[in-house]
Amino acid sequence: MMIWIKGKTKIKRFVILIPAAFGLWIAAAALLPDFRVEVTIRSQGEVEVRATIHLDGRPVYIKDAGRGTEIRWLVGGKDVPFQTRREGDALYFSGLPASGAARLFYKIRAFSSYINSGDRLKLREAILISPSGFLALTGFFPGIEGSEHEPIDIRWRLPRRWTMISGQSSVQPLHRARERMWVAARPDRQGRAEIGGASFTVSVPEGAILWGGSRFLDGLTAYFRHAWEKFGPLEKADFEAFLLPRALLAGFVLSSRAIAVSDEFGESIDRLTHEMLHWWSGYRVPYWIREGLIAYLSRKIRVACGLDGEAIFRQHLQSCLTAVRESIKKSGKATPLAEMSDMISPNARFKDLHALGTLVARRLDLDIQAQNPKKSLFDVFAAMARNRNRNFDLRDLVEQETGFRAKPFFEKYVFGKIENPENLLK
Ligand SMILES: [Zn+2]
Repeated sequence: MMIWIKGKTKIKRFVILIPAAFGLWIAAAALLPDFRVEVTIRSQGEVEVRATIHLDGRPVYIKDAGRGTEIRWLVGGKDVPFQTRREGDALYFSGLPASGAARLFYKIRAFSSYINSGDRLKLREAILISPSGFLALTGFFPGIEGSEHEPIDIRWRLPRRWTMISGQSSVQPLHRARERMWVAARPDRQGRAEIGGASFTVSVPEGAILWGGSRFLDGLTAYFRHAWEKFGPLEKADFEAFLLPRALLAGFVLSSRAIAVSDEFGESIDRLTHEMLHWWSGYRVPYWIREGLIAYLSRKIRVACGLDGEAIFRQHLQSCLTAVRESIKKSGKATPLAEMSDMISPNARFKDLHALGTLVARRLDLDIQAQNPKKSLFDVFAAMARNRNRNFDLRDLVEQETGFRAKPFFEKYVFGKIENPENLLK
């Protein structure tokens, strides 16, 4: 480093600057982690991991989802022998030197599509590569047991013209690198909102079909702002949504701060807006009521922030009614909403639950407003969001928030059979 100083103060400032620079260098060297990982994405469906690890006797492992191959350990540039032992999704090493710097090399064979991965792929094990991008739901990085809160320096090497659109090359605590979603692709369009202390980014890489053009990006960022203002702040500070090419992701995935959805069938807005509300809903309220509230409220917010017109909202309610009627006809009986969640597994009845849940939520919203025009289902959901880390009974919560007596309502519409679903929309 060269330091140019003009004028008479040259010597004096030099004397001050040198120790300062030296101090910074010492501090930087101390901060630079012993633990460095370089991840190379090969567009042919492989991820190569090269790590520099300072061995200190603690157990070392890789999280490879059972797909690590060509594993090598090198000390002083020479291969060293080692043994492996699998524990869940981690592969532990033994027989390595007790201390000193070592290099680890391995490859992971990625899947080419989430859906076409053979038997059902566990979300946290999903590592996907297609010609249009890379997606990892898991930090598949190596680790030293007990060092998960220590910093790791992660560098990404990507195919030409790709960039990381979620996650980046930086020094970061290993546990955070593990928890997050990693996406690389050729970037195309991005929308962004800063609100309170949080940021929301929606990304659409090249190759994904953007239904509705930039209206989609503006609408989704407005949607996030609307939800944040109505339902209050969340613990995390950055949130992301991706619309990915179908070649990369045939389906959708949701994590605590990111959602990835493929561009299939133009249902992507529906998926994204629905899943975003799960950030607020928490998972304490039973499945069948939570899904209905979200299915209905996400549609209401879409109207409020200009993603849909009122006519589309009404059409949607009608299509839910049609779906519920058809399901009653097909099965020959009306199934209470509270019973539906037992039948969900794995894909069956998912649509039925959302359809009936939407109609029941609509009825609840109207009944609350009829009794107290100043309150609505939005207030109930905001209270749910505030209590999302606690156990509570939704019926009590509705009553406390709005004064509406929810118990008879639940008996009738949630635990009871609804033979005439058209009454829900009257
Ligand atoms: Zn849901």
